[in-house]
Amino acid sequence: MIQRENSATPHRSTEGPVRTCVGCRKRELTAELLRVVAVGGGNGSCAVTVDAAGNLPGRGAWLHPDQQCLHAAIRRRAFARALRITGSPETSAVLEYFESFEAPRRPATEQAAKNMSTP
Ligand SMILES: [Zn+2]
Repeated sequence: MIQRENSATPHRSTEGPVRTCVGCRKRELTAELLRVVAVGGGNGSCAVTVDAAGNLPGRGAWLHPDQQCLHAAIRRRAFARALRITGSPETSAVLEYFESFEAPRRPATEQAAKNMSTP
């Protein structure tokens, strides 16, 4: 274990524990992050799922509730590294969670705006 040094980083008063987002590698309060854990799917395969209730056991990784961070984590295989998984884990559950989590995009908004502006 590495001992914390107070000299390099001044200890600011934080509002809670801080973790690093596996997507963008920024440090953030855990209250602002989603926890994801690996669950065994049998046959040695693993799936990554969102620990929405915050009570799933096992090693967890932290992620902003932002699809950019999710895709960055998948692209860089950060889940496998953070969760100690060999091979690439199934991440569809997390993708689904993020899609339902984020507000749906309104299509053709620009075109509607153009039509509105034409006299
Ligand atoms: Zn992030």
